[in-house]
Amino acid sequence: MLRRKKLVVNGIVQGVGFRPFVYRLAKHAGLTGCIRNTSSGVCIEAQSPDPAALERFRLDLVQKAPPLAKIFSIDVLDRDPLDEREFVIDSSDGGGAVETLVSPDIALCGDCRRELLDPRDRRFGYAFINCTNCGPRYTIVERIPYDRPFTSMKGFDMCPECAREYHDPMNRRFHAQPNACPACGPQLSIQDGDGRAVPCDDPVGHAFDMLRDGRIVAVKGIGGFHLAADAADDKALERLRRRKGREEKPFAVMVKDIETAERFCVVDEGERAALLSPEAPVVLLRRNGSGKLSSLVAPGNDRLGLMLPYTPLHVLMMERGPEALVMTSANVTDEPIAFENREALSRLKGIADGYLLHDRPVYLRCDDSVTVHLHGKLRQLRRSRGYVPAPVTLSSPGPQVLAVGAEIKNTLCLLKERNAILSQHIGDLKNFEAYEHFLMVGEHLRGIFQASPELLVCDMHPSYLSTQWAVDQSELPVLRVQHHHAHLAACLAENRFEEPAIGVVLDGTGYGTDGTVWGGEILIGDASGAERFASLEPVPLPGGDAAVEHPWKVACGYLHHAFGKIPELDVLCGREIAGVAEILDKGIRSPLASSCGRLFDAVAAISGVCCDSSYEGQAAVELMHAAGRLEGEPFSWDIGPGSTGAGLQVHTGPLVREVVAARVSGTESPEISRRFHVTIVELFYDIVIRAADASGIRSVALSGGVFQNPLIFEGLTEKLERGGFAVLTHALVPCNDGGVSLGQAVIGREYLKGRYRGIIDNG
Ligand code: ZN
Ligand code: ZN
Ligand code: FE
Repeated sequence: MLRRKKLVVNGIVQGVGFRPFVYRLAKHAGLTGCIRNTSSGVCIEAQSPDPAALERFRLDLVQKAPPLAKIFSIDVLDRDPLDEREFVIDSSDGGGAVETLVSPDIALCGDCRRELLDPRDRRFGYAFINCTNCGPRYTIVERIPYDRPFTSMKGFDMCPECAREYHDPMNRRFHAQPNACPACGPQLSIQDGDGRAVPCDDPVGHAFDMLRDGRIVAVKGIGGFHLAADAADDKALERLRRRKGREEKPFAVMVKDIETAERFCVVDEGERAALLSPEAPVVLLRRNGSGKLSSLVAPGNDRLGLMLPYTPLHVLMMERGPEALVMTSANVTDEPIAFENREALSRLKGIADGYLLHDRPVYLRCDDSVTVHLHGKLRQLRRSRGYVPAPVTLSSPGPQVLAVGAEIKNTLCLLKERNAILSQHIGDLKNFEAYEHFLMVGEHLRGIFQASPELLVCDMHPSYLSTQWAVDQSELPVLRVQHHHAHLAACLAENRFEEPAIGVVLDGTGYGTDGTVWGGEILIGDASGAERFASLEPVPLPGGDAAVEHPWKVACGYLHHAFGKIPELDVLCGREIAGVAEILDKGIRSPLASSCGRLFDAVAAISGVCCDSSYEGQAAVELMHAAGRLEGEPFSWDIGPGSTGAGLQVHTGPLVREVVAARVSGTESPEISRRFHVTIVELFYDIVIRAADASGIRSVALSGGVFQNPLIFEGLTEKLERGGFAVLTHALVPCNDGGVSLGQAVIGREYLKGRYRGIIDNG
């Protein structure tokens, strides 16, 4: 007796070779039926006289799915059998609303790599080889459905041979939208530093010659441009740093292969898997002290951000080029990655000595993702290419919400059903190009996911440009959410944790419900609301936010607060102390801030590690590298009632006075740094114990940019676990402000369900 089943598959199943996979699977099992895209997902009908064959088929769908497919659900229904002979791919999906999700951009696969390097293959040496298992996706999709006319490949007509592959269900390139070959696809070209075309037969070879001569080459990639330079060449990197206008921020490095990575760095199993993954992120690794690299790659940093070649062009370059290339986002400080030929030529003028270009447009810019493998998991620090727009799965569905994120490290987040779709890293919205990108990505996300959100969610900070945008639009209602509440909610959401937790949220800056800067918060609650159980005591920040670039000024605020004046200290010699002291004495132009990030800045300055900062977070990074490990006696702190209410406050006076005493008595910076890190771990453990005693809650969520610091992250996590706490941490989204949009969005859903209470400030 014939049986027929209808299976509706939801997930990332478009443009990832899913249909040919199902076709082959059905043929192999002797099933008849069809597969097509519908408005509710990929729909399969399968028919057989053998019920076991149908069941095996369903299991194989999940277990043997192609590497890029991600199946979230399969609904199975019984159907009346039909009289049919074959299994067919029905491509008559037309323009119907397709609920399947667009895949991220994926690194070159093993099969394509082999063909790329095989002189007998027709795509030998072709920089745009790809198949259904690899290649660009998100960055070339203008709108859905994901079909060639709606991608930036629309200008390239397939030659007969490519078309044959594209239409053959048994071929690896069946419906691979970017399919192309040297006869019909995109081509490389070279331009000189002034934007003049340089005629040459071998653009990769030409670029290689320039790199070998110490030149800086702008290389067009998947989500924009990189600036490439030989990572062993001091002079080249000195020039690059000077021209880019940022002095010390670490550069990412691309190495030829995993063996080369292992020569420069210690690579454990998890790190190795991350480097070799189809997402191919930058992975922060500990150096092993060997291998020849310029000290200018990552000054003051014992970690190195490495990645492997992820496009065919990279592979061709690394086959010939230096074994390690600096590959840094092609931008001037704080601008987003340059992504179009003309834009790159104007913005990179004076920085690049030459351009390795191609004629396939980048529709959507997308930086490299940056990750670190800590405490058993790969952690996102910047979630972009390779991961976006794959959703983070939530514990339950709900109304559609769009959250617009924070100000720096901005991302957006769209909630639809159980999917939280975060945008790529957009950057600092104060930069005009980043702000334009923010607007474009917001539109694009709604477009490709066919979303019509009911609510917009933004930060409470009145001067965040994302907030201003949300408030100024008149289409949707707006909810303003407290920054650290969003951090806590993000951590709970990605862990699908549905109960209240103790949130330890440590970061640089967030707008508090009282209008002052917060940033060292112990919250108790969940996405619907939280109590501010304890916080760092507010300390004046002389000159306001601008002090962040000058850790020594931040230190003056803490010193003045601890001593009532600014004591004489060697690290402050030659600084304009008088002016700073005056505004602190008078209590003018020195807004109060209770920020954990600023406490790191202050101690970095007092201990002589870092007095001026050329990029965000530099003082904290250098303080951590000075420390190297957790060791020594903690400094003192004092926890008492807050000035106005029932919440607790951490008084940092004792800590600052002891750090000063250590410096004055000649204690070396690394020792002060180590003891300070121990102090932070012990101090927040102390508060968590009090919060647990007060609330009976034994689950702790860690969030905020301070947890990018592996010493603090691992130190506090391990101590809490030893203490019997369940510790919830970030892995899928960044703990820094890149993850805030997720928290905002899930808080927005609580609001729509009528459960939102916000933050209760006891401070
Ligand atoms: Zn491939
Ligand atoms: Zn072709
Ligand atoms: Fe934050």
